[in-house]
Amino acid sequence: MARITVIGAGLNGLATALLLARDGHSVTVLERDAGQPEGDADGQWQNWERPGVSQFRLPHIMQALWRQLMERELPEVIDELVRLGGVRMGPLDMMPPAVTGGSRPGDEDLRMMLARRPVVEGALATVAARTPGVTIRRGAKAEALVAAADASGVPHVNGVVIDGGETVPADLVVDAMGRNTTIDRMLAGIGAQRPEEQSEDLGFVYYCRHFRNESPRPAPSAILFYEGMSLLWVPADENTFGLAFVAASNDRELRALRDVQAWDRAAALIPDLVPLLAMSTPLTDVQVMSGGPDRHRSFVVDGEPVATGVVAVGDSVVRTNPSLGRGSSIGMAQACVLRDVLREVGPDRPAELARRFDEVIDAVVGKMYRLTLDQDQNRMAEIQADIAGTPYPPASEAWALQRRVRQIMMQEPDVLRFFMRSALQIEALDVTAIPPALRARIEAEKADGPSYPPAGPTRAQLLAAVAGADQPAESVA
Ligand SMILES: Cc1cc2nc3c(=O)[nH]c(=O)nc-3n(C[C@H](O)[C@H](O)[C@H](O)COP(=O)(O)OP(=O)(O)OC[C@H]3O[C@@H](n4cnc5c(N)ncnc54)[C@H](O)[C@@H]3O)c2cc1C
Repeated sequence: MARITVIGAGLNGLATALLLARDGHSVTVLERDAGQPEGDADGQWQNWERPGVSQFRLPHIMQALWRQLMERELPEVIDELVRLGGVRMGPLDMMPPAVTGGSRPGDEDLRMMLARRPVVEGALATVAARTPGVTIRRGAKAEALVAAADASGVPHVNGVVIDGGETVPADLVVDAMGRNTTIDRMLAGIGAQRPEEQSEDLGFVYYCRHFRNESPRPAPSAILFYEGMSLLWVPADENTFGLAFVAASNDRELRALRDVQAWDRAAALIPDLVPLLAMSTPLTDVQVMSGGPDRHRSFVVDGEPVATGVVAVGDSVVRTNPSLGRGSSIGMAQACVLRDVLREVGPDRPAELARRFDEVIDAVVGKMYRLTLDQDQNRMAEIQADIAGTPYPPASEAWALQRRVRQIMMQEPDVLRFFMRSALQIEALDVTAIPPALRARIEAEKADGPSYPPAGPTRAQLLAAVAGADQPAESVA
């Protein structure tokens, strides 16, 4: 069995370490941040210092895919999360029977895992700390890779240098350094070629807050589209929930949302939010974060690994905008792929391992990435059209289909389930997989424009609210 060094103890680094240790590997996780989880869920939320993860206290939803993979592969993490107050629940559980048609067999597959991000990571860290074969070294920042050239001249990584100068030897190094990974610099340091990268900055920005709901009814989960922005509702543990306005970073007027009073005025325009916020206590002010580029990288360029003895998982290699809350699910799928590929090809066949991992990652995760990117591209184009006051004809069949589905899903329980399966399990909306009558019903819908809620807010109302005016700018003028 191999000595594996994982760099980064975030969501995917820890999941990878657990999966590999369960297969008998000896895994060392290096984490630059010294802090560790202590106490209950609120203790982790309040006290755990994690400067290495800028989104640490921003809303996170663990989609059904993440929950399914965790329950199948690492059920003790789910048990720990439930012990800390995490809740298994799906959007269908939160909707009235008039909309869902009542509960049906298979609905339980669509349950997500609701917990604040520090609590999810706390559960993973607690399980990792007691798992034989996993050693977590916190406060150990990886600075460089150590490598020797193989016969073909490709650098072969066999260790990691941490700050202070110590070398941690490894048969395989896994980069799980997240969205700001420094692996390119480290690879350049051993003379390796740069990984291939596709990257597109769509320009999403998130204006987020967390609250605690003082009523016993849980906050719902939803991604709602409005004219020129979206709103994420992210329920979590201990009756807490996160809300994020998702806007375009070039939308100067909506930058006012960084002010808590402007944010409150915007929230007051959302009819369903008003009663919930009236029963809730804020846990944070507004935290603003840019989504950054959607990015997909490959460590195999023109069929050749840039280096052997090193692979990457999680945000470091596949990163999507958080507007659909998919990063950790896609990362967990990658961790499972790495575990499976290592069962097939050991680190003693390094070039084959690099190629095989790249191939399977592309087959399994590349599809999820492309689906997510297509949605993000279309939604951002729709937001830009709303800002410009022009129509947006969908740029892909998938988006046109999604528009049709969204238009009718609240009246058609089967269509609702069809949509939820694709959203929560990160699958394509495949109309060929549904009964012909339902397909005909969807295809008959027009997809001319987005179906925004008739009760608003319109963009004009939103701009007036964030600017502090009583009425839309046009009517004030
Ligand atoms: C605003 C926002 C909201 C999001 N919402 C969701 C959501 O709802 N659902 C979802 O699934 N995903 C969401 N995501 C994405 C999710 O946060 C990421 O997909 C996930 O954190 C990636 O996990 P990771 O382990 O790859 O990286 P991270 O969790 O970022 O962990 C990387 C780790 O590497 C460490 N590190 C970095 N450099 C070094 C070094 N040199 N040496 C040692 N350690 C190092 C860091 O300290 C960190 O601990 C969101 C992201 C953002 C920005």
